[in-house]
Amino acid sequence: MKLHEYQAKDVFADAGVPTPSSQLASDVDGVLTAAEEIGYPVAVKAQVQVGGRGKAGGIKLAEDEDEAREAAESILGMDLKGYRVERVLVEEAVDFTNELYVGITMDRGEGKPVAMVSTKGGVNIEEVAEEDPDAIAREHIDPAFGMHPFQARKAVYDAGVDKSVANDVASVLTTLYDLWESRDGSDAEINPLMVTADNDVIAADAVMNIDEDALFRQPELAEMEEEAASGGDELEQKADEYDFDYVRLEGNVGIIGNGAGLVMTTLDLVDYYGGEPANFLDVGGGAKAERIANALDMVFSDDNVDSVVFNIFGGITRGDEVARGINEALEQFDEIPKPVVVRLAGTNWEEGMEILNEDLVTVEQTLEDAVERTVAYAEEVTEQ
Ligand code: GDP
Ligand code: MN
Repeated sequence: MKLHEYQAKDVFADAGVPTPSSQLASDVDGVLTAAEEIGYPVAVKAQVQVGGRGKAGGIKLAEDEDEAREAAESILGMDLKGYRVERVLVEEAVDFTNELYVGITMDRGEGKPVAMVSTKGGVNIEEVAEEDPDAIAREHIDPAFGMHPFQARKAVYDAGVDKSVANDVASVLTTLYDLWESRDGSDAEINPLMVTADNDVIAADAVMNIDEDALFRQPELAEMEEEAASGGDELEQKADEYDFDYVRLEGNVGIIGNGAGLVMTTLDLVDYYGGEPANFLDVGGGAKAERIANALDMVFSDDNVDSVVFNIFGGITRGDEVARGINEALEQFDEIPKPVVVRLAGTNWEEGMEILNEDLVTVEQTLEDAVERTVAYAEEVTEQ
């Protein structure tokens, strides 16, 4: 579970991390009222869970009411990397001299959490890690003891943080680790941690991702969950409603299967045949007609999808049942929105094949043929 910036900032501020004063707004008037109360200049920041909002036009500084109105009008309702911006955070603009990075995450290779500090903050830290790995100081932490103060100081020193703010940065880092540990975080990150002309540090951004399996013991954070989910990807929200395991990807070949392994295999095959998967969608076991219809609704309502492959392996889910579900779901359309290719195997696959209405779908005997055909359909659309 990912918290929104405004939620993460609340959590950080409660723990004593300095954050700019801010207010959430969902319309232009709300932005202006907030800005008036906070005082100009302000930063208007899109509350969607993607990185690089600044570059994508989702963050604007405003010196006065006119600029705030302009910022609010351009950001609210905009499409930011596939997410519609419903709310913005209006925040006291920080006058900074430097942007640092501090973060805690799990280093799975080492089996330990790792604290990271860099003076190359304010930019995508993954890029820094790739291009200039030495610019990030790392300190592994033994969870049994927590982060020792000397470890925080060492990371800050190794990163080359200026002496004038070193103590404050170390203290933010220690707090961040304590939060990560006590709130079951998977990542906690401040990028940028801004340094002001007066040598204060202040968290201008906040990222906090929580281990969803631990939410039962984090009632306060669990309460934030619904709000955290809102403003997310519409299709991912729909998938939640339908109770599907769904991940949106960047290609144009829609994929539906029953069972995670089967869906992964299909994804790999789509790639093998030169196509690009549009999604991962696992309908799970016992796929009745309604579930099939819901799955089709998911892929059909994704504008990126040009063709769909259905890969079903009958077990508990019988092939004839799935076939009936596919027919029923597709009979509702006057015109099938995108070509659908079906491959059935396992329990009652033969009965299923007979039932499938070939006016509505293309049936293939093998998975390879089904995927190849689906990729070809998608290519036909792309070429048009
Ligand atoms: P992200 O790009 O989505 O991670 O959004 P951030 O909150 O990290 O903001 C990106 C960049 O916008 C920062 O690195 C700053 O350069 C700028 N920015 C954000 N907030 C402020 C602010 O209050 N004052 C100023 N001057 N710049 C800001
Ligand atoms: Mn950031």
